[in-house]
Amino acid sequence: MLYDNENIFAKILRNEIPYKCVYEDNYALAFEDINPQAPNHILVIPKGKYISFDDFTNLASDMEITGFFRAVGTTARKLKIDKQGYRVLSNIGKHGGQEVPHFHIHLFGGKRLGPMIVSE
Ligand code: AMP
Repeated sequence: MLYDNENIFAKILRNEIPYKCVYEDNYALAFEDINPQAPNHILVIPKGKYISFDDFTNLASDMEITGFFRAVGTTARKLKIDKQGYRVLSNIGKHGGQEVPHFHIHLFGGKRLGPMIVSE
């Protein structure tokens, strides 16, 4: 699978569509999810063109990986959800239910989040 330059998060990175920025540095951009599932629901994406967590951990440089995951923690602390706790999640591919093919971490917080996986 090739990276799709027209995916919605690629457009956000190019500033082609609006988004609510929470944190940004050289490695990552964090912004509010458009359809929040918790009081705090933030997406953190790498600046590089990676399709999924699998793609990112396979192909990104050590600096990109370190920088990105540091940015996830920094974002949580900036939101002040680190003390009460929060959840990070990444959907990968078809079974994971990934909708947008640019690697992203969901960051949920602001309330007790309940069970990790809903049974069908
Ligand atoms: P996933 O299913 O893990 O690929 O999640 C994609 C997430 O992107 C969903 O939670 C959507 O609500 C969110 N999303 C889609 N379009 C936008 C957008 N333009 N701005 C912010 N979040 C978005």
